[in-house]
Amino acid sequence: MADATANSAESKLKDAAAAGGVSAIYRGWFSEISPLWPGEANCLKMEEIIFQQKSKYQDILVFKSATYGNVLVLDGVIQVTERDECAYQEMIAHLPLCSISNPKKVLVIGGGDGGVLREVSRYSSVQQIDICEIDEMVVDVAKKFFPRLAIGYEDHRVRVHIGDGVEFLKNVPSGTYDAIIVDSSDPIGPAEELFKRPFFELVAKALRPGGVVSTQAESFWLHLDIIEGIAANCRQIFKGSVNYAWTSIPTYPSGMIGFMLCSTEGPPVDFRHPVHSFDEGGSHDTAKEPLRYYNKEIHSSAFCLPSFAKKVLEPKSK
Ligand code: SAM
Repeated sequence: MADATANSAESKLKDAAAAGGVSAIYRGWFSEISPLWPGEANCLKMEEIIFQQKSKYQDILVFKSATYGNVLVLDGVIQVTERDECAYQEMIAHLPLCSISNPKKVLVIGGGDGGVLREVSRYSSVQQIDICEIDEMVVDVAKKFFPRLAIGYEDHRVRVHIGDGVEFLKNVPSGTYDAIIVDSSDPIGPAEELFKRPFFELVAKALRPGGVVSTQAESFWLHLDIIEGIAANCRQIFKGSVNYAWTSIPTYPSGMIGFMLCSTEGPPVDFRHPVHSFDEGGSHDTAKEPLRYYNKEIHSSAFCLPSFAKKVLEPKSK
């Protein structure tokens, strides 16, 4: 089941990627047109293009929008807007980290804009934050045009590695991290390998027993088959638990995006009931900004799925 589902989903993405993105700028509007979400496109009114260059890995565009602040676009796909980034960065980081006690070593893969680093640095228990981002130009652009996200790089516990997340993990000793957060772009281009079984196997090896991983896991409105494939693979690899949660975010296609939350065999992790709460303090608030989206109620409710998705992603226990 796992391989067949995962392979068919992956080949669909490959075909979509081959068709190439055709995002367009027309009469002052940016339209996020992509074969990954056929027949629909999110549009944002632009005020000014402030950066546009092709890096070794992808096209990078930054524009000032009329209503969402600065916007980062990679290969025609919106990655971050200043107005709604909190819905993604806070949830992808706090859903795993609030589910375990006293995380010490955390790895971020991708996440070049620095927003996840900003969130991880809120935990006073964390001693080491590694980030492996493949594209140094994304880091430089974030520092220049997204200061409220790139503040994450200013924390003294952060160690930046520029490189491919798959290669980085191959050199990580077993059981190194309490948590790994995979803040990747979509599974086309440089992030393609970050959605495949070998990568998840490397993540599982790099986590301690009862360690947790949180990955960007697409939208159940658009890619339920791909999510099903990812979940099937994860169930074979992560023997603790595998859970899909989601957040509402206006500027991602379908207005939401999901996360796959898994734990390795070992001390049990109940992702639905956080063991750490910012409401009762304990956060090390280096971000100089209070949380704008995450709270413990929204944590637990993030795992509630609509029936059509529940049927696929929460198969009846045998
Ligand atoms: N929040 C966004 C989303 O949900 O699509 C992701 C934002 S973040 C900018 C995505 C980052 O992943 C990019 O900076 C990209 O360069 C990085 N990335 C893609 N493939 C990678 C890989 N194989 N190893 C490390 N970083 C990678």
